[in-house]
This record gives sequence, structure tokens and C-alpha cells, in this order.
Amino acid sequence: MILNWEKEMILQSLKHYPLKVTFLGTGTSQGVPMIACNCRVCTSPDPLDKRLRSSILIQHGPLNIVVDTTPDFRYQMLRAHVTHLDAVLITHHHKDHIAGMDDVRAFNYFQHEPIDIYATEPTQEAILREFPYAFGAYRYPGVPQIDLKIINGAIIPIGDLFIQPIQVMHYKLPVTGFRIGNFTYITDANYIAPEEKNKILGSEVLVVNALRYKDHISHFTLPEALALADELGVKRAYFTHISHQLGRHEEVNGSLPPGRFLAHDGLELEITA
Ligand SMILES: [Zn+2]
Ligand SMILES: [Zn+2]
Ligand SMILES: [Zn+2]
Repeated sequence: MILNWEKEMILQSLKHYPLKVTFLGTGTSQGVPMIACNCRVCTSPDPLDKRLRSSILIQHGPLNIVVDTTPDFRYQMLRAHVTHLDAVLITHHHKDHIAGMDDVRAFNYFQHEPIDIYATEPTQEAILREFPYAFGAYRYPGVPQIDLKIINGAIIPIGDLFIQPIQVMHYKLPVTGFRIGNFTYITDANYIAPEEKNKILGSEVLVVNALRYKDHISHFTLPEALALADELGVKRAYFTHISHQLGRHEEVNGSLPPGRFLAHDGLELEITA
């Protein structure tokens, strides 16, 4: 249960200056185009049909926070000209959300410090399994320096932001979504329990995954994501973690009702309190 003072604290986070959110990637685990696929989405000449794996950059004044280190993390940092990193929030341990973590090394090199990476305990266990060389007692020089920080449901203070974790379900796997002020980011979900939905209520901008039209065992479809945005009463919803099976950006985006959009790589949002 989110308490009123906690909600107030999260909203206060954005009082001084707006939050800037940049979509670093909006594709599903395979990315778009998908390797070896000749479909009309994968062969589209439209740059909006090029989707790296799903991730966002959250900027608040000098603060830079990235959600997930995808297999495209290195290129995403270069493309968005990210020159320092304060923290990483991890949604879950699937490869398309953590595979690029090794490349935080560059930030270690220039910042002379470990990078704080926030994850739940099961996600931390997976990170330790996937990147054992970064956590051993005798570490090769130049391996990533990571300071794992726990996500346990409590509000996460980073800089002057207060971040509310939200637990959503990816079939049977719990995944962490994040709310900052009136902005909420959720990916890789296909179910949200009522008490977790309460934590999203009052958000004006919602980002949520929408894989394709056809049912999927662990991802919301576009109709399900649209229904969720309506149920939560958000003014603006942006859909991400998109498969080539959804169709071309221009056609699908053009078919959506007012205030509902497909996200695309490079899209920037400005969120005010
Ligand atoms: Zn994913
Ligand atoms: Zn394709
Ligand atoms: Zn996943």
C-alpha cells in the first residue's frame, strides 16, 4: 500500500525542474529489424521502424539514470551522447534487459567509481551468475565495477528523485516497473495486481509494453495495453517493447486514439509536476 506522504514525496521530486525521458530502445528481445527477416516491417525504409532493445534514459537536471542495460547498451549510450551515468535500474534479468551491463566499464573509467545498479534479490542473483568476473575476489583489471543496490518495494532515493518500484508480472516472473512523479515506466508485463495498479494511479504519462496484436504468454498485446492505459486514466500512454509483428510504426501509430502513441527510438518526453 502506497501511503499518501509517499505519493506526495514522489510528486515533489519533479517540482523544481522537469524530468526528461528519452527512449533508447523500443524493440522486443530480437530488436527490429530482426536478423534474417524479410517482412515488410523489417525491410521498412522508415527510420521509426528501427528499434533497439527496450530501455530509457531518465534525466533530471544533472542526474542521468538508465533503465536496463540491453544488448545495445553501448550503442545506446553513444547515440544519446550519455557522458556520465549516476545509476541503473533493472526491470528483470532477461538477456534483452541486462546483456550490455559489461559496458558500464566506460563510465567506471571516466568517473573513477563503481556504478550503482538497482535490482531485486532474484535479479541480483542472475546478475552475479551472468557476470561472475565482475564480482569475484580477484578481479581482472578493467572489469566492470558494479555496486549492487537492492530493490525491495521501498522507495528508492537517487539524487533528488524518489522512485517508487511497482511489481508487475511477466507470466510467472516478477518484473519491476518504476514511477517517478507522474511518470510510470513498465515493460515486460502481462498482469498487474490491483494493489500495484494503485501505485500507478495519478500518473499522467505511462509507458507500457505492447508486443503485437496476437496474444502472448508473457507480454501485453496492443489492445491490452490500450485497455490498461484507459483503466488507469492516464492522459498520455506510450507503447514500447514492440515486435516486428505489430506492423509499421506509421500505420499502427496512426490508428491509435488521442493520447495514445507508439514510442520510437530517440523519442523524448518532458514531464512536469
Ligand atoms: Zn524484454
Ligand atoms: Zn520482420
Ligand atoms: Zn522479459
